[in-house]
Amino acid sequence: IGTGISILEMSHRSSDFSKIINSTENLLRELLNVPENYKILFLQGGGSGQFSGIPLNLIGLKEDRCADYLVTGTWSAKAAKEAEKYGKVNVIHPKLDCYTKIPDSSTWSLNPSASYVYYCCNETVHGVEFNFIPDTKGVLLVSDMSSNFLSRPVDVSKFGLIFAGAQKNVGCAGVTVVIVREDLMGKALKECPIILDYQVQAGNNSLYNTPPCFSIYIMALVLEWIKNNGGADAMERLNEQKSDIIYDNINHSNGFYSCPVDEACRSRMNIPFRIGKKEGDESLEKAFLDGASKLGMISLKGHRSVGGIRASLYNAVTVEDVKALAAYMEEFLKNHR
Ligand code: PLP
Repeated sequence: IGTGISILEMSHRSSDFSKIINSTENLLRELLNVPENYKILFLQGGGSGQFSGIPLNLIGLKEDRCADYLVTGTWSAKAAKEAEKYGKVNVIHPKLDCYTKIPDSSTWSLNPSASYVYYCCNETVHGVEFNFIPDTKGVLLVSDMSSNFLSRPVDVSKFGLIFAGAQKNVGCAGVTVVIVREDLMGKALKECPIILDYQVQAGNNSLYNTPPCFSIYIMALVLEWIKNNGGADAMERLNEQKSDIIYDNINHSNGFYSCPVDEACRSRMNIPFRIGKKEGDESLEKAFLDGASKLGMISLKGHRSVGGIRASLYNAVTVEDVKALAAYMEEFLKNHR
């Protein structure tokens, strides 16, 4: 950035770094239209750190110290488990046999005196994504957007808090964005570690302690790239186009490829699918992955807990990349049907 030293050497209290963190925040405000009464924090500890940070800061907002968790996959299940350490957790729909759908909202039994309702907007492992904002009947809404942050616009004003680790769509690991409404801060439980206390971090412009400076800088570069490429609306159009290509391919394969997720909540970011038969033919899947890797297409293996294949189509993946994968899928089908 023209100072003669790298971000890695720079003091986080220097005016040069202040410019970087402020411009990162301004870009985020602009790209997501973040209202003035929301703070944006850049924290460490990853998405998982927020699984603790959220109950530690928010579960005490109401006397009952309870929270509702919509569990639709691995990540919301983990968040609910962590929150149990700090209060009463009501899992809205207990573990389904497998996570492939979002149960109809008329079946949710929300607790009106809960401090907040929590959900994971995109379940990265299972490929289940909310394409609507849950109606919580006035109870504060909290969302994990780690794996679909800035993949589309979002109405921040509908939420008490949104958080996202940067490493999927907006940068590299090390920094987690927390967007929190100002009036919710200052009610942390006394055992809340100070670095996770939103009010302390907000009061120090996320510089209570040394922040992940380099990751914040990378995020600024990625946000500029998103802005220069048309912002959140353009990302949404691209992600629709990209995911449609793969889902069409699956739908037109006469069952050779199958995605277990309900059509209504299929993720635009992470597409899990099986090959050969519904529960997956592991030797065919291995052959698919080996062939893909020879073509330079890597990281297509499904998460170890679900197996199969998973195509992750984050913002950095281009339409051309996705077309190459689709062409390979067609070729593989022809050769192995
Ligand atoms: N939430 C979601 C949706 C994720 O996909 C992940 C990680 O993949 C996490 C939370 C956990 O994030 P971290 O590894 O930064 O703790």
